[in-house]
Amino acid sequence: MSRPNSRDRELRERAAAVIPGGMYGHQSVGLLPDDYPQFFSRGEGAHIWDADGNRYLDLMCAYGPNLFGYAHPEIDAAFVRQLGQGDTMTGPTGLMVELAEALVGMVSHADWAIFCKNGTDATTMALTTARAHTRRRKVIRAKGAYHGAAPWCVTRPTGVIDSDRANQIFCDYNDVASLEAAVAEAGDDLAAIFAAPFKHDAFVDQAEPDAAYARRARELCDATGALLVVDEVRAGFRLSRDCSWSRIGVEPDLSSWGKCLANGHPLSVMLGSDKARKAASSIFVTGSFWFQAATMAAALETLRLIRETDYLERITALGERLRAGLAERAAAAGFGLRQTGPAVMPLFLFDDDPDLRKGFCFASEMLSRGVYAHPWHNMFFCAAMTEADVDGALDAAEGAFSALKRQVRDLEPVEKLAFLTAGAR
Ligand SMILES: *Cc1c(COP(=O)(O)O)cnc(C)c1O
Repeated sequence: MSRPNSRDRELRERAAAVIPGGMYGHQSVGLLPDDYPQFFSRGEGAHIWDADGNRYLDLMCAYGPNLFGYAHPEIDAAFVRQLGQGDTMTGPTGLMVELAEALVGMVSHADWAIFCKNGTDATTMALTTARAHTRRRKVIRAKGAYHGAAPWCVTRPTGVIDSDRANQIFCDYNDVASLEAAVAEAGDDLAAIFAAPFKHDAFVDQAEPDAAYARRARELCDATGALLVVDEVRAGFRLSRDCSWSRIGVEPDLSSWGKCLANGHPLSVMLGSDKARKAASSIFVTGSFWFQAATMAAALETLRLIRETDYLERITALGERLRAGLAERAAAAGFGLRQTGPAVMPLFLFDDDPDLRKGFCFASEMLSRGVYAHPWHNMFFCAAMTEADVDGALDAAEGAFSALKRQVRDLEPVEKLAFLTAGAR
């Protein structure tokens, strides 16, 4: 925690001198309560340690990448073994072919794979592929949906110019009429419809995908020749061992994956069906590190665990255990707490809390009880968590609700977030 004389405070002061703003992106200074640590020293299983050695149950899982636990013995052993054999070389190893075969075997709509490093690489590549396939320009995506931090999709458009954002039409997630209107507006120039597996925007309640919306997106793509893209970067393999929309019977043409694909090692991928194969082989996409072998070894081990273990059933049950226990405790303390989205990727927002002052206070009180939760972003479960971890988090929540009750009348608004909450609402 950022107490005076703490290691975290010292690192923050040094960072302020050599890192613009002291930190950037989703780790920017000020997006979380002041007592949240900025720096960490260790991660193991479901836990993280801050730079001062405080240990937390980590409900963020690195914002998704941690699926099987930090420092996973088998995954990291596969990584280290390959590191000793060669990692960044003049070309890829055979692991690349094995990995593409594994993904094509697991994800129903996929007939091929192109690997990259970040989720943004994979979503941007999907956009390029759709434009190459259709030779058209327009893309439809849902307002407020996150698809990465490139100029075409970044949520805070400082430094972005109109032409970076050209040819985008926005609809409302789960709203068939707005999707149809967007398709009509695109006319004969529609290249792609992008969709998140469920609505997982920050600051607002999450929503499961409406099957009618997903089916209509598929139909509209089929009718116009545009490609349907599901952005699985965040939700991939936490809801299904296949593409998330396979649960509602809708298969996209392209999907982008990243985050947990190699359990924290940097790897992302665009998967596609045969329909888009020719276009995908016609675009020029690459990166100095896109052929690295060690991350692919880690990914093969991660995919093996996805196929062969009951991780999905376990994290789902753990998510439901937390959700039920939290609902009980919130009600007992007299708070309206909205827990939205799939239980395995929950978001908590308090009723009557437009500037998140209750959420910030609750998160701080959780943190001081050893649980790293998030006041406005969805959280994640990992397979290293146990029922005892969840029960510990529920004990922490009970204490945090009582502490919030004591303080709630005197809380100050969270002014530093005003620009974000204004934009999101
Ligand atoms: C994180 C995320 C991205 C971008 O991935 P990066 O690895 O951060 O570039 C894209 N789409 C979704 C849904 C994400 O959650």
